[in-house]
Amino acid sequence: LVIPNWKTFVTDMKYHFQQVEPLQDGANASYIPVLQQADPEQWALSICSIDGQRVSLGEAHLVPHTLQSVSKPVTYAMALHREGEAFMEEWIDVEPAGRPFNTQDLDPDTQRPFNASINSGAIMAAGILASGFSSSVNWKHIVDQVRKTWYELCGNDLDIGFSDVTFESEKETAYNNFAIAYNLKGRKGLPRNVDLHTMLDVYLGCCSIEITTEALSVAAATLANGGICPITGKEVFPASVVRTVLSEIMMCGMYNQAGHFAVEVGLPAKSGVSGALMVIVPNVFGFATFSPRLNSKGNSVRGVAFCRRLVDSYRVHVFETL
Ligand code: GLN
Repeated sequence: LVIPNWKTFVTDMKYHFQQVEPLQDGANASYIPVLQQADPEQWALSICSIDGQRVSLGEAHLVPHTLQSVSKPVTYAMALHREGEAFMEEWIDVEPAGRPFNTQDLDPDTQRPFNASINSGAIMAAGILASGFSSSVNWKHIVDQVRKTWYELCGNDLDIGFSDVTFESEKETAYNNFAIAYNLKGRKGLPRNVDLHTMLDVYLGCCSIEITTEALSVAAATLANGGICPITGKEVFPASVVRTVLSEIMMCGMYNQAGHFAVEVGLPAKSGVSGALMVIVPNVFGFATFSPRLNSKGNSVRGVAFCRRLVDSYRVHVFETL
């Protein structure tokens, strides 16, 4: 067993989970009603080790919530898996942005998005993914393929839904994302001249995929396990793809808090505006938290606080052993 004293581990996790619960800093995302109206007190944690030991804390671990930006590394991984490093590199850089997640800025020299963890790069990744399908294929079909991949990452036994309400509100309010898409098209152009609206629908569709914290922890464990799902034993992504994706989210996954998160927590992680957070402890376990209140960088306040406490009590920071 990778975590031999599982009982003690769970007791410790419960303690940290409870210590974080009283935090009320931050605020729900407010740009769409479904996120604004989410109960801000929800607090859930699920853990899955690479050999399949699992625990969930908090009643909210079974509450479906949207992936939002937690979808980004998987869309990127799917595109990378199909297209390879060279093609991806041509369209999306892998450098920290030093800018908020919704920035319009592109790299001034190459006109590429800085990375796939911010909206511009994720919209481009959605475009790359869509560009591999025939132009007659509907966005929903492409998002269903992404859902299927999440289903495999989560061990096949947990439902992966889709929030129509979120998708519709996202579309109605996505002026900034539309601006990003037009900017991408107007500057370097889009891969294989993919349709701009399909690209945006795929991007917003990926954000609107619904998952529970319990399922998300299994996806995190699959990534911690080099792409092989600990529950099914199936390889969802090759290890080389996972290596790139984990490096990328280590640098960029927590947006403008990525630097501090790397120093304080030292683990690859991806957050979303729904309050979801997926964290990978390579070769040991993956975990997910859910709490809707966000800090000024767009990351879940309780989620980040839990990560700090975890690293204080367990030596899981990737540079801890130096
Ligand atoms: N749907 C959100 C957007 O595109 C996702 C951003 C996020 O989760 N940080 O603005």
